[in-house]
Amino acid sequence: MSDQTDDFDLEVDVVVLGTGGAGLTAALAAHDFGAGEVLILEKFGMIGGTTAMSGGMLWIPLNDQQAEHGVEDSFEEVVAYLDGLAEDGHLDPEALGAFLEEGPEMLRWFEEKTPVRLRLFPGFPDYQSYAEGAKEFGSRSLDNDAFPFAELGSWAKWVNPPKTGWPRRTSMIEDYYTPDLGDEAMADREERDCRGQGQALIGSLLKGVLDRNIPLHRESRARHLITDGTRVVGVVTQEEGRNLRVGARKGVIIATGGFEWNEKLVNSFLRGPMTGPVSVPECEGDGLLMAMEVGASLGNMGKSWWLQSSQEMAAHGRGKANYLIGNSERTRPGSILVNRAAKRFVNEAANYNAIGPVLHNFDGSSHQYVNLPYWIIVDQRYVDTYRFFNTTTTGAAPSWAICADTVEELGDKIGVDGTVLHETVERFNADVRAGRDTEFGRGDNTYDNFWGDRSFDGPYRTLGVIDQGPFYAVQMESGVLGTCGGPRPNANGQVIDWDDKPIEGLYVCSNAMSSPTAGVYGGAGGTLGPGMTFGFIAGRHAAQQG
Ligand SMILES: Cc1cc2nc3c(=O)[nH]c(=O)nc-3n(C[C@H](O)[C@H](O)[C@H](O)COP(=O)(O)OP(=O)(O)OC[C@H]3O[C@@H](n4cnc5c(N)ncnc54)[C@H](O)[C@@H]3O)c2cc1C
Repeated sequence: MSDQTDDFDLEVDVVVLGTGGAGLTAALAAHDFGAGEVLILEKFGMIGGTTAMSGGMLWIPLNDQQAEHGVEDSFEEVVAYLDGLAEDGHLDPEALGAFLEEGPEMLRWFEEKTPVRLRLFPGFPDYQSYAEGAKEFGSRSLDNDAFPFAELGSWAKWVNPPKTGWPRRTSMIEDYYTPDLGDEAMADREERDCRGQGQALIGSLLKGVLDRNIPLHRESRARHLITDGTRVVGVVTQEEGRNLRVGARKGVIIATGGFEWNEKLVNSFLRGPMTGPVSVPECEGDGLLMAMEVGASLGNMGKSWWLQSSQEMAAHGRGKANYLIGNSERTRPGSILVNRAAKRFVNEAANYNAIGPVLHNFDGSSHQYVNLPYWIIVDQRYVDTYRFFNTTTTGAAPSWAICADTVEELGDKIGVDGTVLHETVERFNADVRAGRDTEFGRGDNTYDNFWGDRSFDGPYRTLGVIDQGPFYAVQMESGVLGTCGGPRPNANGQVIDWDDKPIEGLYVCSNAMSSPTAGVYGGAGGTLGPGMTFGFIAGRHAAQQG
């Protein structure tokens, strides 16, 4: 923290820290609601953070498109849904109310004033599709139209690339329902460098930033807030090896993402082991540390957007390991997850966030996390049918997969009891042949089957036997998309202190804030929906300060 206020190198009205979905939304909102001068600071050389690598979907209940699709939704239903899933007492009614109120408003503003184009994803179930208040057949999740990067001119090269492979030219909805758009349409997409998913979201937000001539400093790492004793009036940022003191007449908006790449913060706060973050390595909790320095109250610090990942045996490119998401891998028929006891321990097709805490089950007698380490087990039929982690074609397993001719041998190779592993696989196969997973109910709900194999007849698209050798095991990590605890926002996105009073001049949004849904992943877009809505709220409120 710094409290010397008379020597700014630069002074603007609103400073936004971070260029993920939340940060760019905050900057656009600040501009459009009359902030005056807005400045965006980005720590990395590339723009878009984890958002640019993501699916780019937003979970926004009560959105206007629901009615167009004939779906009725209500405040009561959403609250019943989230309240039923959140830990007792962890939902903050003020933050949740603001999210539900302002999310639809943000969507209207996007549509009217910005290049962002979001479309309801028909049929995408809420993640706990069976719970009270859930929309079992979707309507709260929105997807981006593919956005032409040609419109970004020379800025296109500064957008962070997707997590794996070259960006898809299509939207998520197109991928799911109409994967073949035809040669002519695809040639046109190619020509205009159209990109879907998180690339489309960041591309369209960045276009809004460029249209408004909002300055954006890359390789600018905000480190400390500047206060005048009563309020936050600026930020110290590191650029080109020196400290730049930037004054913010109306406010500083923290949009720096989570703290999952900061080992000290992870060890201090998270509820259990976390070994595989899939976000950008810049998410080191810088915003959290800055807010703590000025007395921010913190919430949901033990929680994360949990995810099951696997460490690719290659460097991240930035001196950090790379972790691959294993969602489709564990959901498709013919795969199971097993723990150190060589036993299944969870419905593998459940949503990633719900599986996370299961990995933290602890046995008081053996003093061990009973489900760690854990592995995904598949057979040759699976590998021949589906792409497996970073393989480019079917038929091959990643180089770091362990392979054996029999299940027993596979167990021995990964260090678990091979006989037990064999029994586990046999029991699962018997269930599959009988048509139902009697142990964990895998496939018993709409969500489980949504990402299963759609070529399967019948309701169970996630169940398949494992019986054709050779057999493969890949060790999985207790990973995250990002953490979701941090400074607590009020309904204006202002950071509050431990007396619940706003710290004037300081705002928070993104994964840096205490999650308004208390870490409940409502449906596809469960992180970006609330994170960007608070970007909108914060930018608008900061703009309207005197
Ligand atoms: C493959 C994949 C698919 C996903 N799909 C979805 C999805 O469809 N929907 C969904 O809701 N979520 C999804 N997620 C999760 C989602 O991407 C993240 O939760 C979300 O992008 C976080 O957005 P953010 O704005 O909080 O942070 P980020 O997008 O990570 O942006 C934070 C930015 O802040 C910058 N920064 C950090 N520290 C500083 C500092 N000190 N000064 C200045 N800048 C700083 C970072 O460099 C970064 O650019 C997915 C994730 C992955 C990896």
